[in-house]
Amino acid sequence: MTSDVEEVSGKSFDYIIVGGGTAGCPLAATLSEKFSVLLVERGGSPFENPLVMEKKYYGYSLFETDEFSSVAQSFVSVDGVRNLRGRVLGGSSAINGGFYSRASKEFVKKAGWNEEMVAKAYEWVESRVVFPPMLTPWQFTAEFGLLEAGILPYNGYTLEHVEGTKIGGTVFDQLGTRHTSADLLQGGNPENIIVLLNATVKNIIFHNNSDKNETCASGISFIRSDGTADETFEAVLSGANDSSSPLGDVILAAGAMGSPAILLLSGVGPPKHLKKFDIPIVVALKDVGRQLKDNPCISLMADSRPLNRPADPPQVAGIAKDLKFIIEAGVLPISANSTLVPVAAKLAFPKSKGRLKLNSMDPRENPTVKFNYLSKEEDLKQCVEMVEMLQRVVSSQAVTVFLGAEHKKDVLVGSEDLPGLCQKNVRTFYHYHGGCSVGSVVDSDYRVYGVKGLRVVDGSTFLESPGTNPMATLMMLGSLLAPKIERELKRISLSTPPPYSVFFSASLSTGMLNLRTGRPIHLKNQSKLPPKINEGEEDLPGLCRKNGPETFEAFLNGANDSSSPLGGVILAAGAIGSPAVLLLSGVGPPKHLKKFDIPIVVALKDVGRQMKDDPCISLMADSRPLNCPADTPQVAGISEDLKFIIEAGVLPISANSALFPVAAKLAYPESKGRLKLNSVDLRENPTVKFNYLSKEEDLKQCVEMGELLQRVVNSQAVTAFFGAEHKKDVLVGSEDLPGLCKKNVRTFYHYHDGCSVGSVIDSDYRVYRLWSKRIAGR
Ligand SMILES: Cc1cc2nc3c(=O)[nH]c(=O)nc-3n(C[C@H](O)[C@H](O)[C@H](O)COP(=O)(O)OP(=O)(O)OC[C@H]3O[C@@H](n4cnc5c(N)ncnc54)[C@H](O)[C@@H]3O)c2cc1C
Repeated sequence: MTSDVEEVSGKSFDYIIVGGGTAGCPLAATLSEKFSVLLVERGGSPFENPLVMEKKYYGYSLFETDEFSSVAQSFVSVDGVRNLRGRVLGGSSAINGGFYSRASKEFVKKAGWNEEMVAKAYEWVESRVVFPPMLTPWQFTAEFGLLEAGILPYNGYTLEHVEGTKIGGTVFDQLGTRHTSADLLQGGNPENIIVLLNATVKNIIFHNNSDKNETCASGISFIRSDGTADETFEAVLSGANDSSSPLGDVILAAGAMGSPAILLLSGVGPPKHLKKFDIPIVVALKDVGRQLKDNPCISLMADSRPLNRPADPPQVAGIAKDLKFIIEAGVLPISANSTLVPVAAKLAFPKSKGRLKLNSMDPRENPTVKFNYLSKEEDLKQCVEMVEMLQRVVSSQAVTVFLGAEHKKDVLVGSEDLPGLCQKNVRTFYHYHGGCSVGSVVDSDYRVYGVKGLRVVDGSTFLESPGTNPMATLMMLGSLLAPKIERELKRISLSTPPPYSVFFSASLSTGMLNLRTGRPIHLKNQSKLPPKINEGEEDLPGLCRKNGPETFEAFLNGANDSSSPLGGVILAAGAIGSPAVLLLSGVGPPKHLKKFDIPIVVALKDVGRQMKDDPCISLMADSRPLNCPADTPQVAGISEDLKFIIEAGVLPISANSALFPVAAKLAYPESKGRLKLNSVDLRENPTVKFNYLSKEEDLKQCVEMGELLQRVVNSQAVTAFFGAEHKKDVLVGSEDLPGLCKKNVRTFYHYHDGCSVGSVIDSDYRVYRLWSKRIAGR
């Protein structure tokens, strides 16, 4: 990666890609497998910028939108709607919500793409940058709000775009790090790509192939993004200086705002408009900048009080009405320490169209755009219907219970002039597209009509957005097209790798480097497996072979001298392990040791006695197995006198289903049990009996605890969260509650004792009557 324009200026490449964004990066990566590629991006690197890379700062990069250098560039359409575009390697995938969803099957069919190739291209992307999300409580709530509003069926976690409520993929990994399309560059051949950052492409350079009377793209002219517009540099396609036509292409991937603007600045567009800016006409193409669309969005605040909540990108979506409406919810910062909670709905297939025009000859300035939101009657009608559905989500019991009774939510429904309110409140979902649509500016192979060697591959080519969030399909498109482009070439020329390959110079031998650190990378799926012990191979010292009698020994310092050792052997093998080790070592009740022919070293009758396990009653808040992410308990209810502890989680019961237990434990049971050996093989479990609830007092308390637990599971919050039909376990109401407690008693996994202080060890954890043996742990 370099920002030094001089290093690139005057050089030639098989392919020149303009715009290192969502579609541009994967395209550069896949083309680099066979060709030399120059990728020019007007912004800088995302990797060191925490506002881009860290989920906790999601939304913060959208505040800084200065004219020439921030990672997000804002623009206001003539309609008066504020909008945003990415200006950084990774493009808008570096500033967006990271929600990842494939296009519907119908969209793929309509686009004329090969289904199998599309699936492969999606998989290529997904193996690198897509993760299942860890749902936050607000996302769970939104999910139940969507279901309550009737957006059904529930589809669980899926990357497919299907009707109903679902959990989508995300580009944020489990550590909260964002993976943008810039990460996809690592899937290419590093020796064949140059990424030029902080350089803005001004226009395409053309030449006329006089033999065939064809206009051909032969290179690009660019400026430093922070320089003057007059100082320009050039890079050209390989072969452009020969008599023949170049082999490769200039490919615009500058987004729906960038690509039409570059075409216009290069003289490809409607003649009348070009004349206004004195731009010489290269190809008269009236549709450049036309058919521009933005999906109208209505956003209601579920809670409009600005509170300091953690930012939360959307992870669930409600897809309704034949895929026409999409509803998502998030938590968005509006300042350094306050956030809002919008629930937003978009109209997936608007009919209203707009137009993009130049505003200036400076490529860094935004063009002028007008989307004509809701200008078509059909759009307005649908918008009203969509708002009614959105209002049902925002007013759902789940959302109300989650945000508290006093939450101040936006209300639109009930007003007499809902269409008027829609028009007044319309915003963007940031999925604007078109301007270089397939069929009017580019053909179905994404070649610009009337010019050789020029293509557009990004959101500007979509006549319709993929219905769902477009990032997935744009990343996919980048990798889908490379093999297609490659097949088109009559001869494959492998240009010599550029000697000025700057950014991967450090370690080319490994093939893949981390663009951030310059170090070799391991792909997500290449997890390191623990070393296998094969038959015949030596075990690692300390590991026992399963069936082998072989033993090893280690000694305390001084043990072989006449004196006593200085230190001690300390057992920390847990409540099951430590008493068992003592017994196997001949320290324990003589009668029991004799049974196993273990020579008695110290007769200590209490080893293995006083074993306790805290009795636990666990009720299923919802006993339907659902496909939800596992969730460890993070809150606890601790009742009076600290006797009862209640916690809740989501526990997997198979690879794709989980249950929702709410569990209560009795903190100080009186019932005691015992641990005995079962075998002289230390790897086998000893026998334990805890005698749960055998003491009357424990049983009485357990009944009380069951009643308390039942109140939690029956609470309005839990009921609203799971919906009215959730099938929960019921204990209370039964006549024989003590009997039911006994039948349902389980473990909270907090078993302890067996080597209790005062009976097996003293208050300094020394085993009675044994010098140099201590026990630490339970
Ligand atoms: C705030 C926001 C939130 C969004 N949330 C989601 C979401 O959660 N899920 C989802 O699927 N979609 C989301 N989207 C939409 C999605 O991110 C975009 O539709 C998609 O990224 C567009 O991809 P693209 O390749 O067409 O353009 P971009 O990714 O924008 O790439 C264009 C690139 O070209 C560069 N460029 C432009 N002009 C020039 C020039 N003259 N010279 C050099 N470089 C240039 C730009 O800097 C940029 O890097 C969101 C968008 C925004 C703005």
